[in-house]
Amino acid sequence: MSQQPGQLTFVAPRRAKPARHLADLPMAERRAAVVELGEKAFRADQLSRHYFTHLTTDVAQMSDLPEAAREKLSALFPPLLTPVKELSTDEGTTRKTLWRLFDGALVESVLMRYPDRVTMCVSSQAGCGMNCPFCATGQAGLTRNMSTAEIVEQVVIGARALAAGEVPGGPGRVSNIVFMGMGEPLANYKQVIGAVRRLVDPAPEGLGMSARGVTVSTVGLVPAIGKLADEGLPVTLALSLHAPDDELRDTLVPINTRWKVAEVLDAAWAYAAKTKRRVSIEYALIKDINDQEWRADLLGKMVKNKLVHVNLIPLNPTPGSKWTASRPEDERAFVRRLQFHGVPVTVRDTRGREIDGACGQLAATE
Ligand code: SAH
Repeated sequence: MSQQPGQLTFVAPRRAKPARHLADLPMAERRAAVVELGEKAFRADQLSRHYFTHLTTDVAQMSDLPEAAREKLSALFPPLLTPVKELSTDEGTTRKTLWRLFDGALVESVLMRYPDRVTMCVSSQAGCGMNCPFCATGQAGLTRNMSTAEIVEQVVIGARALAAGEVPGGPGRVSNIVFMGMGEPLANYKQVIGAVRRLVDPAPEGLGMSARGVTVSTVGLVPAIGKLADEGLPVTLALSLHAPDDELRDTLVPINTRWKVAEVLDAAWAYAAKTKRRVSIEYALIKDINDQEWRADLLGKMVKNKLVHVNLIPLNPTPGSKWTASRPEDERAFVRRLQFHGVPVTVRDTRGREIDGACGQLAATE
């Protein structure tokens, strides 16, 4: 379902829900689910260890479960994600996977291995309702929200491939998660928070990752940013700003017609104050659109002396878009202007452009 320019879709179309999976449930509910299936509650701890520690869903391998229990408990591991296509680049250290969900909806995730870390970029919705005109995902509209377990499974499957040594560089672990795949995570708030809890809860309740290694990226849903600050989960907040002035941001990030630049920045500073975490401001540099020095100056003035980091992203090409990345000299001038104001700034080394796996390129087409 494609959208008119500027149109926003907050509520996902009603659709059949994916089957309940162990990863959808907090520990107490896992115990209840196991009892419901006619097994002793402690089996939930065994299942959790198999899933979150050993990364397995194959009950045939769970030798600590009696034969009869295996059959019953396999109901908590319905297959949620079927790989449709895998593309890789950077000698296999960047891999994009296209997944089919139970109802045919398609999503993508990207695994990026660096010398010192492995980052997985995950999707939180099939499609996206936020309609940013420079983003490929935004152009197709919102198909549906993903469930907590569908989000977690992207990570677990990636972690399993790494543990098995399938990614060049030897066996490894996922260290960072960025909610920068398809979708607007804060528009699927409850399921995303559930997923974050599964990621950071200590093993075997969850994957035991550091909350500091988890980044939630948003177009700026102000009330949800406030709620996130109160979760007691010190995840990194990334705000997709892309313009410091309302006039331009209204067109680049249509949610700005609801919550203006000043409001969303206030929400970001409140988030930083509460969590003590540096907020990341994302800014895609688009040639002759938002890359003027005066805009860098305005941005610098707005964010100076805050707990902030500006991440500039050279625009990645998307189908049908007339926009391209800024000229190198304009990019350099933009960086210098921000530095002049004492603002920490980096230019993102975007990976995966060759496989349409970079920021804003996820369109999930077969
Ligand atoms: N909806 C959330 C999560 C997606 S994150 C959000 O917008 O923050 C994807 C990031 O890549 C966002 O910062 C987005 O604005 C940026 N992006 C989108 N299209 C892009 C493109 N063509 N080139 C570079 N960055 C892009």
